[in-house]
Amino acid sequence: MRHKIPCFCDNTFTIDVPQEIDLDTDPQYIEDILAGNFMNFICTSCGKKHKPEFPLTLNWPSKGLILEVLPELDRGEFYRRKEPKNMSPEKETVISYPEMAERIAIIRDDLSVEALEALKYYLFVKADEAYPENEISVWYNAKTGEALEFHIHGIKDNEVAVMKTPLNLYEKTLEDYKKNPRTDPFASLRIKSYCSLQNLLRPEELK
Ligand SMILES: [Zn+2]
Repeated sequence: MRHKIPCFCDNTFTIDVPQEIDLDTDPQYIEDILAGNFMNFICTSCGKKHKPEFPLTLNWPSKGLILEVLPELDRGEFYRRKEPKNMSPEKETVISYPEMAERIAIIRDDLSVEALEALKYYLFVKADEAYPENEISVWYNAKTGEALEFHIHGIKDNEVAVMKTPLNLYEKTLEDYKKNPRTDPFASLRIKSYCSLQNLLRPEELK
């Protein structure tokens, strides 16, 4: 689909973006998404980099995943909309391209989204208690040996804190989830097709 991108330099340029991608057929998109290079566009006049967000669907049949990606601007709309009754059980939603990249890393590493978002919640609570004035966000980065690596934003300006969590804490959280999927934090992490720490942290106007 073609879109016009207006730049601050007064130039407007046209881009062509896919609405649906199959990650098994076109695996190069996985690297682009993880590297943050996906849908970056350079203004044809001034050279400024633009990172617009458009809705799209990522199909990943080998992982049993249909990922609906919504722009950050549609976050409010997501909570208001009605889901179709015959929604595919494989459909998952993420809101914003950073969440898309994080989810691709989670699925690449064969981790449970529920257990992962619960771990992020525990890390968030700790960081938020230590720095109550700051706007903290927690992101999954990668599996490294016997640990899961998270990036915590907002502790210091323009710095990312790297936090490693032992894999066995993840496994224990996954066990808890399988035993008690309807208890918190797991129950509150998911709203329809969207499983995210953001569902616990969302402001009153999005409830
Ligand atoms: Zn420009």
